Amino acid sequence: MDFYTYLVSRLIFPLQETLKRHQTLKVRRGLEATQWWDPDRLEALRIERLRALLVEAGTHVPYYQRCFERTGFNPSSLRSVADLCRLPTLSKADIRANADALRHTHAARLTRSSTGGSSGEPLSFLIGSERVSHDVAAKWRATRWFDVDIGDPEIVLWGSPIELGTQDRLRLLRDKLMRSRLLSAFDMSDSNLDRYVETIRRQRPRMLFGYPYSMTHLAQHAQRRGVALNDLGIKVAFVTSESLYPQQREIIQQVFGCVVANGYGGRDAGFIAHECPSGGLHITAEDIIVETLDVNGHPVANGQAGEVTITHLATRDYPFIRYRTGDIAVLDDRQCSCGRGLPMLREVQGRTNDLLIAADGSSMPCKAFTFLLREIPGIDSFKVIQESVARTRIVLVTSAAYDPISEQGLIDGFRRRLGREVRIDIEYAAALAVEKTGKFRYVLSKVDRDSLGGLPLGAKPAQTESLALPAVCST
Ligand SMILES: [Zn+2]
Repeated sequence: MDFYTYLVSRLIFPLQETLKRHQTLKVRRGLEATQWWDPDRLEALRIERLRALLVEAGTHVPYYQRCFERTGFNPSSLRSVADLCRLPTLSKADIRANADALRHTHAARLTRSSTGGSSGEPLSFLIGSERVSHDVAAKWRATRWFDVDIGDPEIVLWGSPIELGTQDRLRLLRDKLMRSRLLSAFDMSDSNLDRYVETIRRQRPRMLFGYPYSMTHLAQHAQRRGVALNDLGIKVAFVTSESLYPQQREIIQQVFGCVVANGYGGRDAGFIAHECPSGGLHITAEDIIVETLDVNGHPVANGQAGEVTITHLATRDYPFIRYRTGDIAVLDDRQCSCGRGLPMLREVQGRTNDLLIAADGSSMPCKAFTFLLREIPGIDSFKVIQESVARTRIVLVTSAAYDPISEQGLIDGFRRRLGREVRIDIEYAAALAVEKTGKFRYVLSKVDRDSLGGLPLGAKPAQTESLALPAVCST
């Protein structure tokens, strides 16, 4: 660690957090110890924290006072994490309808956060400083798994309007202090990409952070220009917010000469899981209980796909208890070779917007479709847009190797998955546009799941934007 990083990570950042009344440093130190605990000891900690959260909610949060009364649930009787299933789940619609009743009666200094702005109605909710501290600390811990600390030079390729909108002077100054440089994922024109490549060469970041698509796009641009970026000492590229495909991992790894670490989380759900250097996708188990539920709300077995439902243990001020994310994932019961006792996700199959809804109401993960497209030669890039249950558009950017005769096979493949009567339109474009938020989605469904009701696996909740904390110090 160089002296400047030492100064920032030990002094400047902790000071900033203290001024904001966050407990980030203390929480991170705690997390660095508990990650090595054996699963039984970790479980005991979780039960204790869960019970404390529920007792507090039952005493001071009107929504949960009513909920416990109605269900006859006694929080102090909780003996295991599995007892959670005696409580109802919390949907986005529930939060919207009970925005004030979810607030702790003594909560102070709450800040408003929102998610899902790119499609559908955004979800607005409140977060307390306890939660911010825990989410930032969890992320900080994950960067340190790769020998990267706050204060190390960082390039953030991000495009959320929230981040760009708050680029006031103070923030720019702070980013400069932290040696964090934001490059907009909004505008990925060739001239901007040239500038980004040049900035990266000059800044010699120790870590990169961004969406898989944007980072791959930038890597491919550098490749085309013949500019080397693998000699800068970049340790790790953190990607989040979209599905990471193996080809993307390969390209990023190769071009930047670093490992790629996948993260999974959201503003709403928190910092759910992060990949370790051994490749295990570890859950932030001290703070977040992940359940995977079937269509009837019952837990599925480890190894089976289910809807990610989280209970965030640091949400005393505005509890997220059994919050349904709409994402589909598979829990793992193996232990990681790195030795950390933190449980793992085997896979995140589809984030809400990656899922398409078939005519019979079932949810199909994007992999079911991207697989078809990747089989066809000459498709450079694609985008699948489900306009309605009855109609899906496929936009293709093709090269000379593409044969339009493939169209019928593609349509048939999509129909086999979505339904015989579904209309599939294939369109061609010279290039694909990035979403308004700067994110790129290969697969986007505009179907309002809330209005469908009673759908199988993962289909019921409204859209979520799996937006992780943009940078370690950006909360
Ligand atoms: Zn591990």
